[in-house]
Amino acid sequence: MTCTETQSLIKAFINDELNINEQEEFIQHIESCPNCREELEVYYAILTAMKQLDEDKNLSGDYSQELKEKIEHTRERIIHLRYNYYRKKGALFLIIVLLAVFLSLYHYFMPKEEENNVTESTFRLRKSFMEDRYDKPAQELDEYFKKQGGLD
Ligand SMILES: [Zn+2]
Repeated sequence: MTCTETQSLIKAFINDELNINEQEEFIQHIESCPNCREELEVYYAILTAMKQLDEDKNLSGDYSQELKEKIEHTRERIIHLRYNYYRKKGALFLIIVLLAVFLSLYHYFMPKEEENNVTESTFRLRKSFMEDRYDKPAQELDEYFKKQGGLD
């Protein structure tokens, strides 16, 4: 965030109108830039004094200390929100991983169909079944071609 951008957001910051990303960048800049920090302190003092006059409150003396507390409070809120955000993401990720592990284990241990082993039956497989079945047409075909050749 540049100085111009930061200074244009001062009023919004004081009125708590910035979103979390803007607040984060704003505070980052304020803490590394004495010029903008000073600007913020002046605006904060003026705006707060005006607000207090508006509301017929006594003017509080130490605006600088109030501002420090406000910045500290905002920073804590940012950390809290960020922490919650990543914690939620982390929880979601964990759920997906656990679900994947569970499904693969389920797949591994549970047979898709129960094997139906025949233990007692009068049914027997003919070993020669294939030979009988497929030799015949070959022989018939041979005979057929022989006949055909004989006719010519
Ligand atoms: Zn600056």
